[in-house]
Amino acid sequence: MENLILKKEHSALGELNSPHRRTASMFYESRSNFLRVKCLDCGNQQIVFDRAASYVQCIICGKTLVEPTGGKAKIRAQILEVLD
Ligand SMILES: [Zn+2]
Repeated sequence: MENLILKKEHSALGELNSPHRRTASMFYESRSNFLRVKCLDCGNQQIVFDRAASYVQCIICGKTLVEPTGGKAKIRAQILEVLD
């Protein structure tokens, strides 16, 4: 019986820890990442930086894939994957 109470307290502590996880995910979102994107025009896939400071064009057809905004770049392609 005592054991059961201890287990319950332990899981309550686990729930209290969740705000820390939220902080971690905010940190993750503020990080810059490389993205694997797919050109909407020709289907070419290439890796771009999501905080690019200049325009990034498709290496195959020349379509603008990433537009700089001063912060997080505007992605004008399909994002397939976020890379660490
Ligand atoms: Zn293209």
